[in-house]
Amino acid sequence: MSFDNLGLDPRLLKAVVTMGYTEPTPIQSAAIPLVLAGRDVIGCAQTGTGKTAAFVLPILQRIAPRVGAPRVLVVTPTRELAIQIVEVATAVSRTTGHRIAAVYGGVGYEPQVKTLRRGVDMLVATPGRLLDLAARRDVDLSRVEILVLDEADRMLDMGFWPDVRRILALLPTKRQNLLFSATMSPVVLKVIGSTLTDPAQVSVAPPATPIEAIEQSLYPVVGTQKNDLLVRIIQERGLERVLVFTRTKHRADRVARVLDRAGVRSAAIHGNRSQSQRQNALEEFKRGRCRVLVATDIVARGIDVEGISHVINYDLPNVPDDYVHRIGRTARAGRTGVALSLLAPEEHEALRDIERKIGAVIDCADLAGFEYSHDRIVPDPDRTHEAVRKAPPAKKPQYGRPHGGAQHRRSGR
Ligand code: AMP
Repeated sequence: MSFDNLGLDPRLLKAVVTMGYTEPTPIQSAAIPLVLAGRDVIGCAQTGTGKTAAFVLPILQRIAPRVGAPRVLVVTPTRELAIQIVEVATAVSRTTGHRIAAVYGGVGYEPQVKTLRRGVDMLVATPGRLLDLAARRDVDLSRVEILVLDEADRMLDMGFWPDVRRILALLPTKRQNLLFSATMSPVVLKVIGSTLTDPAQVSVAPPATPIEAIEQSLYPVVGTQKNDLLVRIIQERGLERVLVFTRTKHRADRVARVLDRAGVRSAAIHGNRSQSQRQNALEEFKRGRCRVLVATDIVARGIDVEGISHVINYDLPNVPDDYVHRIGRTARAGRTGVALSLLAPEEHEALRDIERKIGAVIDCADLAGFEYSHDRIVPDPDRTHEAVRKAPPAKKPQYGRPHGGAQHRRSGR
């Protein structure tokens, strides 16, 4: 895929080159043509996917530079995000000649008011300050043709939605709306549903950590000792942000209870939980109120939490792709992560499939001082990378859910 086929005109293509982008990211390939066509768009993509350029480039193509009241309004929850968006837009404007400005709280009004008076094409704003400026009549929102709601889920979380509604009321009703959100919960969709006209939806999976950046190890143990071993590993190593995977919902609930009883605060998240229960569990985990999130594969793809230090496979997945997706939840954004797998004797076939899939041997480790049962089975330490790559697939039926995960990942980066 190249930027050339997305419908961007030569000025914008030149801007892309000066920014050093060679290929569009998946969200850019998907969103740019839709925005250029004037569609309302719901984009499900988190920071790091290139979503900012995905809306800035086509918007600045649609709006000719003309000094005056803002015709593009980007509403974003935090000052940091506002600054990042302005940086991207300013880089593009060097070629296109647009005026870009940001308004956010925590700083004086005067410089912002002066900038607004001089006229801007695109205004990037946090909700509170924007409403203050509108109340003081320092900003005229009656000319807005394109609205972007950035990180809508975070704005909801942060309680900005009443402000956003008030802002919407100040805008012309005929306008193009773009909404970006890292997660697309029914709550977000319900709240914004009334705002958008026949929106096109695009979504991309967050970029997973490359497998080489993850330190993987196996802990051979009998099934009946898994609970004890898990608790000891988490406690003795002082692990703080841990995602534990189990094969079934029932086991997820049980493991969460075991951890809680051992004094390790945890929450379970799986397909039997309502959306709001899942959302609550995720929030508790994100805010650090619980150290461990216990999940099943079904929900793994919806988990987008930064700073997960460890992924622990309480059970190995039967589908090798799931292993890769699971451990890719750790250590995003260039950091290294750690993935531990508890390996029961009956899971050696699953292990063989996983090692064949990743084309490498996973090393074994032990927790010092743990009294392992003699019945555990330690994999052959002499197996080689070469041998695991060539091993025949296990002949068991791959029970559990159908192998349906991959199509949700439209593409990673
Ligand atoms: P964002 O998701 O908008 O926060 O962007 C994340 C990072 O990706 C930013 O540092 C961008 O400069 C960078 N980026 C965006 N689009 C591209 C692209 N097509 N090629 C390379 N880097 C990009």
